[in-house]
Amino acid sequence: MTSQPTVKTLLILGASGDLTGRLLLPGLARLVARGRAAGLRLVGAGSDPWTPEQWRERVHASFEAAAASAGPEGKEALQSLEKETVYHQLDVTAEGALASLLGTLDGPTAVYFALPPRISQLACESLRPEQVPPGTRLVMEKPFGSSEESARSLNQTLVRLVPEDHVHRVDHFLGKATVLNILGLRFANNFLEPVWDRHHVEKVEIIFDEDLALEGRARYYDGAGALRDMIQSHLLQIMALLAIEPPATIGERDLRDAISAVLRASSVPVPYAASTRRARYTAGQAGGKDVPDYAREEGVDAGRGTETLAEIQVNIDNWRWNGVPFILRSGKALGAKRKEAVVTFRPVPHLPRGFTGVDSPNKLRIGFGPDTLRFDVDVNGPGNIFSLSRATLETELSGSDLLPYGEVLEGVLAGDPLLSVRGDTAEECWRIVEPVLKAWQQDAVPLEEYDAGSAGPAAWPTAVPRD
Ligand code: NDP
Repeated sequence: MTSQPTVKTLLILGASGDLTGRLLLPGLARLVARGRAAGLRLVGAGSDPWTPEQWRERVHASFEAAAASAGPEGKEALQSLEKETVYHQLDVTAEGALASLLGTLDGPTAVYFALPPRISQLACESLRPEQVPPGTRLVMEKPFGSSEESARSLNQTLVRLVPEDHVHRVDHFLGKATVLNILGLRFANNFLEPVWDRHHVEKVEIIFDEDLALEGRARYYDGAGALRDMIQSHLLQIMALLAIEPPATIGERDLRDAISAVLRASSVPVPYAASTRRARYTAGQAGGKDVPDYAREEGVDAGRGTETLAEIQVNIDNWRWNGVPFILRSGKALGAKRKEAVVTFRPVPHLPRGFTGVDSPNKLRIGFGPDTLRFDVDVNGPGNIFSLSRATLETELSGSDLLPYGEVLEGVLAGDPLLSVRGDTAEECWRIVEPVLKAWQQDAVPLEEYDAGSAGPAAWPTAVPRD
């Protein structure tokens, strides 16, 4: 499904920033090159005194990869967007500055806040509702607030300016293909639904391990850590999709209502020393590189005790999932990349006597990027058919031809908030993890260590590499 923009102008605040250059503009370029952003105007803004040429050069550099693989029409579309793009120098926090710029743009406009979170908040607070032209969309990056209360306060600021369905809280993990693949698997197959509950599922693990270490991102990461960076946002969203009740439609209202309901039923059980773990890496080799001790990485404040690996158990207290642990784990500088959800089913109630060999639980593994599906089953072995052996049914799921930020932007430009995090959901995600963060700050859970390049602390059950 491709959609053409209803938005006429994309205004990127934070034109010189890392997100804009590395992710947003390349994502936009793919969209443009595929003819999926016809008629769009691009406007950059930032505090640097750039000339229009300097901005165009930046856009050109970020468009290059997409242009190289584009056909003649795609190249022409990219060149035309580059030629017409304009740049405005402004301090977005200055009284009236953003409002004046909004008043000059050809709307409807999508305002992308590619700014430090505090600056985004000040910029929104500087606007009055009557200064925001009708149809404007506000696109907010993560982290969305730093606590339940701050997320609520930011939500109140935003919905004073535009309706909730015109606010796009970006979670680039929620790429359309991945989301739709989970929903398709769950709700377009009759065999799965009867076993998708506490009677048949023993546990669900959602793992996002990276082999990369800090990669120079201490300024952001050391203040965040693995729990805030990955679990509070992305992994809770994936958990919700795996756990939701069947929605009547996959329209934004039905789907986001279902997500919200699941998150409202979710919490991390106490004591946190039993339901959560945290660790940080020491020197080693990961991702093909020598990695220093995290505490010695440039820009890290070792005394902060930031975790680079986090794991929490979430319980969903409703009829379907009561008693089934959802384990969410993410970390850096690990031995292997692993991005998947693993649903482990309960053992058969009785294995007929006479069978020998493996009797291991069925596992359904949903891989993210590339999206794959693997199903581990026990079958009769070759030769001696009484001896069970493990077979894996595996298939690759359809992906997207856009980069993750291309998918994000396509939704924004089409005015479709389906893949954006709704305001109440953003607050719920903080409500779930905030008590854990507080307990960790008070050292109620020890900060363990693992060698960079290992599978994590050996005693962690999820440290077992994928089998
Ligand atoms: P950067 O620090 O690289 O860029 C921030 C931008 O904001 C700069 O262009 C800066 O311009 C501009 N800026 C700061 N203050 C003002 C102001 N008062 N008026 C106008 N412009 C201003 O940050 P990132 O690009 O890394 O991050 C931006 C947002 O995206 C953050 O919320 C971050 O959490 C989020 N994010 C970033 C990711 C990434 O990989 N970078 C990934 C996911 C989310 P100048 O330097 O000229 O002041």
